[in-house]
Amino acid sequence: MRAWVGGVFVALMLLSAGQSVFADPLEPVRLQLLWRHQFQFAGYYMALEKGYYREAGLDVTLVEFDQDHFPVEEVLSGRAQFGVGRSSLLLERMRGKDLVALMAAFQRSPLMLLTTAASGIRDPAGLRDKRIMVSRDGSQVAEIMAMLLKYGITENDITIQPQSFDIRDLAEGRTDAVAAYISNEPYQLQQLGVGYNLIHPEDYGFPMYSDILFTSGRMVDEHFVQVNRFLDASRKGWRYAFDHIDETIDLILQRYNSQQRSREALLFEAQALRKLAFDDQGRFGFLNNERFDAMASVYRITNTIEPDFGLQGFLFCCAAKTPFNLSPLQRNYLRTLAPVRICVNREWMPLEQVTNGQYVGILADYIGNIFERLGLEYQVLGAGSWQEARGLLNDGRCDLIGGIMQVLPAHDPLHFSRPFFTTPIMAAVKQGASVAHPLLLRRAVGVLRRHDLDVLLLRRYPGLTVVGVESVAEGLRRVQEGELGAFIDTQATIVRALREMQITGLVLDPGLNDSWDFSFAAAPGNSKLIALLDRSIAGLGHAEREQIAARWLTVQQEVGIDKGVVRNLLIAVAFLFALLGYRYYLVSSHNRRLERIAREDRLTGIGNRHWISGRIDDAVDLALRSSLPLSLIYFDIDDFKRVNDRYGHAQGDQVLIEVAEVVRENIRRTDSFGRWGGEEFLILLQDTDADGAWQLAEKLREAVAARIEAGGEPVTCSFGVAQLRPGENQDQLVNRADKALYQAKNRGKNRSEIEINQLADKFG
Ligand code: GH3
Ligand code: MG
Ligand code: MG
Repeated sequence: MRAWVGGVFVALMLLSAGQSVFADPLEPVRLQLLWRHQFQFAGYYMALEKGYYREAGLDVTLVEFDQDHFPVEEVLSGRAQFGVGRSSLLLERMRGKDLVALMAAFQRSPLMLLTTAASGIRDPAGLRDKRIMVSRDGSQVAEIMAMLLKYGITENDITIQPQSFDIRDLAEGRTDAVAAYISNEPYQLQQLGVGYNLIHPEDYGFPMYSDILFTSGRMVDEHFVQVNRFLDASRKGWRYAFDHIDETIDLILQRYNSQQRSREALLFEAQALRKLAFDDQGRFGFLNNERFDAMASVYRITNTIEPDFGLQGFLFCCAAKTPFNLSPLQRNYLRTLAPVRICVNREWMPLEQVTNGQYVGILADYIGNIFERLGLEYQVLGAGSWQEARGLLNDGRCDLIGGIMQVLPAHDPLHFSRPFFTTPIMAAVKQGASVAHPLLLRRAVGVLRRHDLDVLLLRRYPGLTVVGVESVAEGLRRVQEGELGAFIDTQATIVRALREMQITGLVLDPGLNDSWDFSFAAAPGNSKLIALLDRSIAGLGHAEREQIAARWLTVQQEVGIDKGVVRNLLIAVAFLFALLGYRYYLVSSHNRRLERIAREDRLTGIGNRHWISGRIDDAVDLALRSSLPLSLIYFDIDDFKRVNDRYGHAQGDQVLIEVAEVVRENIRRTDSFGRWGGEEFLILLQDTDADGAWQLAEKLREAVAARIEAGGEPVTCSFGVAQLRPGENQDQLVNRADKALYQAKNRGKNRSEIEINQLADKFG
C-alpha cells in the first residue's frame, strides 16, 4: 500500500528553496565592457563559454567598448543591464547616479604610473615639474592625482599631456610618465627593450577596487533574482578563468582578439591581473563599505562633488543576507507607506487564520518575517476567499493580498511577488484507494472553491473532474462518504483537519507529487512594493523557514527515514483512532444514509435532479473561471409512452434502469450523469467541447440501440448537445441542450444534434 495511513502526525513539510528549472527561454542580457577585448574580461568570456550564464537562465551578450558605448550611460539608459566600470564609478554614484556595485574583478587597481628606468623617477615626489600623460578627465585617474597630492604636487606642479595610448611616447622621451595598466604597458616596454619603474597608488595609501561589475538600482528592484544569478555565474566564470589561464587565452585568441594581442602579451596580462584579483584572504570579487568609504575620500580630495549623495545603498548585498541595503529612494518610499494593509484568508489553518484581530499561522509567520526585514508595519484584513480579497484590493481597501497563488499567470492583471512559501499538496483518499495520480482515480476530486483552487487543479490536470467544496472538513467528509474520490489540499491543512475531526479511514496519498506556491499580489500599479517584497523574500534563509515549520507542524519527520517504519507507526496510530472513532462512525453512518438518499435517483441509482443540478452549477462556475470548455448532453428515450402503453409501467421502469446502466458503463467515471426527470437524462462533461460531446452521444446512442429492447423491439434515444458559452448560466445551457434534443426528435429520433448556435459559432 503506497498510501500513508491516517496521516495523524505526518508533518513533513517539503520546503523547496524556490529554485526553478529554466525550461523557459533565456532572458537576454547585455554586459557593457569598459575596454576592448583582452584578458581583463576573461571571467565573462568563460562564464559564457562554460554555459554558466545559460544555466542561470541568461542569454548574455558582451559589448566591447567604443566611443558610443560608455558603460555607465549604457546601463542607466537600460540598453545594457550590466556594466564593468572603473573605480570612478564611485564618483558617479556619489553624484547621484542610480548605480549598484556587484563585485570587483580586481581588489587592487591595475592603474599606475609608468616611468622609464633611465629617468630615475621612482616615486611620486620625483614627478614635480614633470610631464605626465593622463586622461584629461581627472576622475579617470583619481588615485594617481590623490597620490601626487599627498606629496604636495597639484595640477599646477605638473604638465598634463593628453593620452596618446602609444607607449613609444614614453620610450622615446616625449613624456616623463604615463598612466597605464600594470597588465599591459609594462609588457610593451619589455618588448621594446626599455626598462621601467612602476609607481602604484596603492603603495601610497590609495587602494582602489577596479573593474567593478555594476548594474542600475532599477535592475536590482525589478530583477533582483536575475541580478543575483548574473553575479553568481560571473564569479564562477572568473574563478574558472584564473584556474585555467591557458585555456582562457586560447579562447581569447580564437574569439575575442580584436586587439591582435600575442599569446605572450595575454599571458603577461593574465599573470599581472591574477595578482590583483584576490584579497589577502583569497576571496574573489569581494566588496565592502569601509573600502568604498576610503575610495570616496580619494574622490572628495581630487574632485568637487556637489551635491554629494554619499554611498548608502551602492553596495549590492548578497543574495540571501540581512540586513540588505536599500537605496535612499527606496527608504523614502517605504516611509511614505502607511502601515501596509494586507488581505489574508480568515480561516485556513494551519496556514493562516484571523481571530480576535490576531493573525496567526504559517503564512502569518512568513509575512511577519518578510515585513520585519523591511522594517515595515502592516495590518491584516480577513477575507473569506481569494475572490473576496481581490475585490477588496480593487476597491483600494487593501494594498496587498498575502499568501495567494498565481492560478492563471497569463491572464491575471495582478502583480505577483516571487513565492515565499512552497508546500506539498496531498490527496486524502479512502484507505486502500491509493492514487498514484488523481487522474487514475477516475472519480470527482474535491478542492477548496474559495481560493480558485478548483481552477488551478483543472488547469494542471485537464480531464480531472473537479468539485469545489466550501471547507476542508466538508471535502474530507465527502471523501469518507464515497461521494468524492479524493480531496486535495496542502498536507498541513489536511492533517490538521483529520485530527480535529477525528475522521478515520482516510489516508494521505503523496502520489500527486505536486506543490502550491504562495506569493503576495498587488494591484498592477504597485510593482514597487512587490519589488521590495521580492528582495526581502530572497533573503529568507533556511533557518527561518525551519523555525516556522517547527512551530506549526507537530512532529517533524527526518528526511530519509525508513518508510516502512513510518507506515507501521501510522497504522498503529490509525488503529487507535479507529477505536476512538467508532462512536462517531455510528452517528455519521446514519447521516450518510440520509445524504445519499438526498442525491441519488431511487429507481436507477444514478444522480438525481438536485444532485446533477448542483454539479452543473459548480462546473459552469469553474469553466468560466478556468476558460476550459464544458459540455452537456441531454437525452430522452424515444417513444417511451408506447413502451409503457404496450408492456406496462414495470417494463418501462426496467428500460429506464437498463438505459441508465448502459450509459453509465460507457462514460468516464469522472463525467457526471443524472436523471433530470421522467425518461430524460443529463451528462455533464468537463473540459470537453461540443464535438467531443457529440461523439460521445453517438457512441451512447449506438450502445443503447444495440443492447436494449422492449418486447423484441430496440429501444432508442435522441441526444442534444450544447457547449457552455461565456457568461451563460445553468438554465441557459440546459435549455440549449434541450433545443438540440428537440431538433433530434424532429429530424427522426435516434440521432444526436449539436445546438444550432454552437454550429453558428463554428461555421458562421
Ligand atoms: P418522444 O420520442 O418524443 O420522447 O416520445 P415519448 O413517448 O417518449 O414522449 P415523452 O418523452 O413526452 O413521454 C415521456 C413518458 O415517459 C411519459 C411518462 O408516462 C413516462 N414516464 C415518465 N417517468 C416514468 C417512470 O418513472 N417510469 C415509467 N415507466 N414511465 C415514465
Ligand atoms: Mg421520450
Ligand atoms: Mg420525455
